[in-house]
Amino acid sequence: MSAEQNIVEEILAVRRRIDACQRCATLQPWRKFPVEAFGTIATGYMLIGEAPGYVSWRRQMPYGNPRNYTIREAIESLGHPRYKTLEDLFYLSDVVRCQPSPLGSTANRSPTSTERRNCSDYLQRELELLTPRVIVTVGKLAAEAVLGRPIKITQEHTKRHAGPAGNEVIVLMHPSGRNKQHLQNMGLTLEGYREQLQKVFADLIERLEREGPVPR
Ligand code: SF4
Repeated sequence: MSAEQNIVEEILAVRRRIDACQRCATLQPWRKFPVEAFGTIATGYMLIGEAPGYVSWRRQMPYGNPRNYTIREAIESLGHPRYKTLEDLFYLSDVVRCQPSPLGSTANRSPTSTERRNCSDYLQRELELLTPRVIVTVGKLAAEAVLGRPIKITQEHTKRHAGPAGNEVIVLMHPSGRNKQHLQNMGLTLEGYREQLQKVFADLIERLEREGPVPR
């Protein structure tokens, strides 16, 4: 078995453990993305969000809510022949793997600190296995989990940082309803936000074509 196949097997084992996990009683009925919905390990790029949203979970597609589809549109609209979707460019992960909602509801809420702590070893293991050269975080909690410190998302949006393992971390805001006001306050339209994301993704593709896939 090649080193790359080995990593895929290890990643699938992590994702199967996540699939069976019921550590957080507050997250019943534990709505998760499918085990195999992780994108690619070949590029060395990771995209880390906060948690599945209800509509994305229903569609079994991370960032799949048509109301917040800007992140997917940003890569799709580049029209690159090889990197057409988020799954072509990134390994997709989240800080919390079950959709957080008030019990008995489908509404989205932010994950609690306990839920984030409970779930943290899965992300840690993925980072150890993948050693990504670039991590793109989507949302404040994802950036804080990777950078290990509190951040102000309105100040950090599109900023690049040295990551904990010598990698690069790019911080992005999520285009959710509650952040649309933040975007306005920053003088950004949704179109302007999409253009920023297009630039981030285009730069990553250009780097990938220049440097090639990560050696495994
Ligand atoms: S959020 Fe994470 S730790 Fe909590 S039940 Fe889901 S998979 Fe388990």
